[in-house]
Amino acid sequence: MGISMDTDLAKVLGPKTSKVMADQLQLRTVRDLLRHYPRRYARRGEMTRLDDLQAGDRVTVLAQVKKVSTRKMQRRHGTLTEVTVGDGVGSMRLVFFNSRHARLEVGEWGLFAGSVGTWQGDLQFTHPDCHIITGDDDDWARALVPIYPASKDVSSWVIQKSVKMLLDDPRSLAEALDDPIPEPVRRRHGLVPLDVALRQKHRPESQEEVDEADERLKWDEALVLQATLAARRRAAALEPGIARPRGSGGLLDAVDAALPFSLTEGQREVGEELAEELAREQPMNRLLQGEVGSGKTVVALRAMAQVVDAGGQAALLAPTEVLAAQHARSLGAILGPLGRAGELDGDPAGTRVVLLTGSQKAAARREARAAVADGSAGIVVGTHALLQEGVEFADLGLVVVDEQHRFGVEQRDALRAKGTRPPHVLVMTATPIPRTVAMTVYGDLETSTLRQLPAGRGGVSSSVVPAGEKPAWVDRAWARVREEVAAGRQAYVVCARIGDEEGGSKDDEGPDDEDGAPPQEKGTSDRRPPLAVLDVAEGLRAGPLSALRVEVLHGRMAPDEKEARMRAFAAGEVDVLVATTVVEVGVDVPNATVMVVLDADRFGVSQLHQLRGRVARGKHAGLCLLVTEAPSTSPTGQRLASVAATTDGFELARLDLETRREGDVLGAAQSGRRSGVRLLSLLDDEALIAEARVEATALVERGGGLADHPELAAAVAALSLDERAEYLEKA
Ligand code: ADP
Ligand code: MG
Repeated sequence: MGISMDTDLAKVLGPKTSKVMADQLQLRTVRDLLRHYPRRYARRGEMTRLDDLQAGDRVTVLAQVKKVSTRKMQRRHGTLTEVTVGDGVGSMRLVFFNSRHARLEVGEWGLFAGSVGTWQGDLQFTHPDCHIITGDDDDWARALVPIYPASKDVSSWVIQKSVKMLLDDPRSLAEALDDPIPEPVRRRHGLVPLDVALRQKHRPESQEEVDEADERLKWDEALVLQATLAARRRAAALEPGIARPRGSGGLLDAVDAALPFSLTEGQREVGEELAEELAREQPMNRLLQGEVGSGKTVVALRAMAQVVDAGGQAALLAPTEVLAAQHARSLGAILGPLGRAGELDGDPAGTRVVLLTGSQKAAARREARAAVADGSAGIVVGTHALLQEGVEFADLGLVVVDEQHRFGVEQRDALRAKGTRPPHVLVMTATPIPRTVAMTVYGDLETSTLRQLPAGRGGVSSSVVPAGEKPAWVDRAWARVREEVAAGRQAYVVCARIGDEEGGSKDDEGPDDEDGAPPQEKGTSDRRPPLAVLDVAEGLRAGPLSALRVEVLHGRMAPDEKEARMRAFAAGEVDVLVATTVVEVGVDVPNATVMVVLDADRFGVSQLHQLRGRVARGKHAGLCLLVTEAPSTSPTGQRLASVAATTDGFELARLDLETRREGDVLGAAQSGRRSGVRLLSLLDDEALIAEARVEATALVERGGGLADHPELAAAVAALSLDERAEYLEKA
């Protein structure tokens, strides 16, 4: 029996090795191992830069034994063996206690693996794993020695040996290596076959072979991803929805008449685009990108009104309860009596706007669900609670997802499934997306962009306040807050933590996860915990802002409390709102003009951009102060300086992409799905991704579609399975 890509590694490597590989590196099948690529290659004569190592790194180095000395320890029993190894550029010490060393001899070459530590300022390995390379080891004879991402009990050379076994397996791996890239596509783009690529990647003879393999293996990733998306687009296109054409004299006309401003050019254009698509039977699947404050909500409301006029219902899905409540409130305000049909003062020609969230009281939720089910609620605003079973729509015609980056494809699908026929879908995001991300994460959607901001905006300027280097600047920041409030404006103070946590510092916000935890950077665990909302509010009331009305807002407050607090702030009854990132997205209080972000280094680039969007919403100029203890010369300090220096969302999106790994971008945006991306770079491989998109679309849409390409179909299925497994684990 031959082996296939899906063969369990236990069958090939034995139970012991395969168990640690599965436990520590999540490598379970032949496919997993063959796609576990070397991170780099060590070369003889041009060794690893030992100079570049830092304490804490877990690494494998290729070096030569220069010196071995064993002596008795003075304070303890036993002996200490010190070995100096070097690679011609740097050198490091290996330390072994009580002769637990592998009898290393001066002059031998070997691979040494472990966690780098320091001792008296020098780098050292304590009890590293050693793998001496003997003269007849044919791997060593190769020009390049692959170094794999390793774990505690699975060293790089164990992986190397295992891969070698697979590649040399007499049970014909060629059979296992169904090539997902059809031959004509390979030919068009000059790509080597899969078995060749894998051999060249794992056991290269030269750098050229590695490069050739990389190009081909990136294509695998791009093509499978694009084929998955193309298949989704095709499936969506084949299933007809319901046309919701524009009518006159209804809700849409009433909305247009009620708007206190005229639409921007962009809003009008995108509005036309949506109106046309909604009028078609083929369901719309569109992404609306627009800078923070560009007025996406109105565009969505007009689309929803059109659908209601055509007899359908529209659902608006928001990422947080605060935002859902705000949307319900502002839609209700614009619609007036038209949004209260059925109530005493309502207009019977209108509809009802209902709010449905997870933390509503049971009675309120039951009432909302009933209105959704019998169709009297034309517009339903809610959080994830909308996705739950038991929420039935009479006739769901349009799903609007606000601030998409908090939702995954699966959630969109869950809502889509609530229509009797597929509803139209509009996804809105304020984070401008580089083209590569649009082609991958959102690759199943068509895109519209709002480039313009409404006229007469004051704009926002930002500064970094280096609290460590210039403590006096922090006082100045509070003085600015006092000045703005004295001029009749309001302020936000944002903290990374609520405070007063029970059992640890992690927020547990329930299903809505309102205070999205900022990304953790490597090696941050020993920093002080971030300043907390409750402590900061306390300190400000007692100190620099004692004359002002300071209140807090965070995800642990009861929903009606949150709602009341937000209302009070919007009504100008609160001067300063100390909050977590619950205010990150969408919150709209035009009179707020200053924002002080404490521990700004704890937040991601696009998160900061979102946050500062809260103070650029009216005619007054906004100010955003990014307070940090990070030194201005550190990478973190410079990242903050870049955020302060530009408000160009596209430039920031790129910066964001640079500071995160591609996998994270895909992962976060897709509720943690395994993207299958290892080599492909969203930053550097734009051209390749675009070409793969064209090829994948053609493969999927021509003839029998994916069914004509069983190998590619299998790879697509494997990806979706991973995705599904991950999703189920999280649910
Ligand atoms: P975002 O695109 O960030 O979601 P919003 O839809 O919340 O932005 O709009 C931001 C603010 O701009 C709101 O107060 C909204 O009422 C206002 N607004 C929207 N469109 C216009 C317009 N054409 N002219 C003036 N103000 C507008
Ligand atoms: Mg918005």
